[in-house]
Amino acid sequence: MKRFLAAALLMATPLAFAQKKSGDLKVYFADVEGGQATLFVPPTGENLMVDAGWPGAANADKLVALAKIAGVTKIDNLVITHFHIDHVGGVPELAARIPVTRFIDHGVNRELDDKATVTSYQNYQKMLANGHYAHIVAKPGEILPLTGMHVEVVSADGNVIDKPLAGAGATNSACAASIIKPVENTENDRSVGMIITFGKLRMADLGDLTWAKERLLMCPVNKLGKVDVYIVSHHGFNRSSSPALLNGIAPRVAIMDNGATKGAEADAWDIIDHSPRLKDLWQLHTAIHTGAAHNSPDSRIANLPGPDAFHYLVLTVHPSGSFAVTNSRTNQTVEYPAH
Ligand SMILES: [Zn+2]
Repeated sequence: MKRFLAAALLMATPLAFAQKKSGDLKVYFADVEGGQATLFVPPTGENLMVDAGWPGAANADKLVALAKIAGVTKIDNLVITHFHIDHVGGVPELAARIPVTRFIDHGVNRELDDKATVTSYQNYQKMLANGHYAHIVAKPGEILPLTGMHVEVVSADGNVIDKPLAGAGATNSACAASIIKPVENTENDRSVGMIITFGKLRMADLGDLTWAKERLLMCPVNKLGKVDVYIVSHHGFNRSSSPALLNGIAPRVAIMDNGATKGAEADAWDIIDHSPRLKDLWQLHTAIHTGAAHNSPDSRIANLPGPDAFHYLVLTVHPSGSFAVTNSRTNQTVEYPAH
């Protein structure tokens, strides 16, 4: 694996250097095999990491290598969207390798019948108690107190914002045809969801927020407004990404942190792919459990079938509102205009 990391480092070095001068926001989508770990690095101000993937040295080493590529020597803010093992499991080992200043989460684990979740939460609590970390329990409607980006919390601990965000609030015509699914009563329902704005660009990261909770955000009125980039909820499982959400936020680009055999379900993939403004759906992996009809072209996929090389995707946001996505496997960049 060391060899792969070294190769990835070499390939991506120019990206890291490019950032320093440009005034661009860089967002690194780590390949944590169907978990989430996304690192936002604004040109000035504080960086923000969302989740840290699974437990294990290999996962933590991978994230440290990616932080190095990003030019990050400490993580200013680490948001834990929820306490499932594929999001919080990697936190203690990551924090043992790189300084973290502040943790942000939704509060208390309420999913007590899942052993992996209970253990992951306990390990995280132990780490919080033993360290000297700042800690925020995020609440819907709150703007996170960080510099460099505007981060609005829209969901947390099962609750969502009660009023539309500024500029949002239009009636959502997709509500009637978007079927209703029950809440899961899992940590997914409790995900910290965020709308992140940098310059003119808006991004949605809702963690693994569920279909039923999306409805509270989107029906009858769209409380989020449109976004440019949708970080696909729950790795592309069909328990998230309802038509009500996708028609309402109408992303121009979607980025899916699926694994080779996890997430990217065909029906969710179709809803995202057919959403009204979508130009490209990027994937961290080819989904080998679906077919070619439910995978993006190889150029839009970081990791193809075969030995895993931990390729990642980088979103570059220019202050003008134009943006680009780079595939670390091919080193090819696709540009998207401001509008
Ligand atoms: Zn997950």
